[in-house]
Amino acid sequence: MSHCLYCNKKIAMSKVFCSKGCKENYFQLIAIRVPKLFVKRVYVFCNEQEREEEIGNFAQRHNWRLDLCKNKIKEEAVRLGYLKLSA
Ligand SMILES: [Zn+2]
Repeated sequence: MSHCLYCNKKIAMSKVFCSKGCKENYFQLIAIRVPKLFVKRVYVFCNEQEREEEIGNFAQRHNWRLDLCKNKIKEEAVRLGYLKLSA
């Protein structure tokens, strides 16, 4: 057994993704580049509402999907220590 690179679902050994959607999401997610300063700005200096707006503008400006941008930015925020993952 192997695991889908995007959603981690179990798939056949010969496959890399469980679906076309996962493949698309995976490559779009890789393409999304979030500047560290942007992550810092929205997590350190913005309140929750401002953060939503900033991330919305960011996704729109680059023509990236909002949900993927949110995931990526959150990931970065955790990695950079601005956001603690609640258990
Ligand atoms: Zn998948």
